Amino acid sequence: EEKTLAIIKPDGLLGNYTDDIKRTISEYGFHIFKEKTVQFDEATVKRFYEEHSSKSFFSSLTKYMTSGPVLVMVLEKDNAIADWRALMGPTDARKAKITHPHSIRSMCGLDTQKNCVHGSDSTKSAEREISFFFRELSAD
Ligand code: ATP
Ligand code: MG
Repeated sequence: EEKTLAIIKPDGLLGNYTDDIKRTISEYGFHIFKEKTVQFDEATVKRFYEEHSSKSFFSSLTKYMTSGPVLVMVLEKDNAIADWRALMGPTDARKAKITHPHSIRSMCGLDTQKNCVHGSDSTKSAEREISFFFRELSAD
C-alpha cells in the first residue's frame, strides 16, 4: 500500500480539529502508520519547505508553521498520495468551502495560508517528506 505524509498544521491542532480530522482519515480508509507531534523551529521548517524559499509568502509561511505544534502522520492506503490531497481540498480554504464543502480544508482552514493540513504532492515528495520526519522508514 502507498504511504504519504500528512501534517495537521498549528491552526488545526490549536483549533481542536485533530479528532475530527482523524475521524475523517479513518472513514476514508486511511491507516495512520506513524505519528508524532513536532514543534518546528525556523531552520527546520525552512528546510522542509525549501522548494518555496523564493516565494513571496515564504517568511509568512515559516512564521505560521512555527506558531505552535504540528501533528505529523504517515498515512497508508491504496493511492494514498492522491486520495489524501483530494480529501484535503484546494490550497485556498475559502475556495474549498465553496467548491469542496466536505473537504478537510473546508472544515478547518481559513485562507490560502492557514489551511490546516499538508499532504505530499508526489511519490518523490512523499519519500522525501516521510524520511524527513521518520528516517527509519526511508527504506520502505
Ligand atoms: P501543502 O503543500 O501544504 O499541501 P499545497 O501543496 O496546496 O499545500 P503549496 O503551493 O505547496 O500548497 O504551498 C505550501 C503551503 O504554503 C500552503 O499549504 C500554504 O500554507 C502556503 N501558501 C501557499 N500559497 C500561499 C500564498 N499565496 N500565500 C500564503 N501562503 C501560501
Ligand atoms: Mg505543496
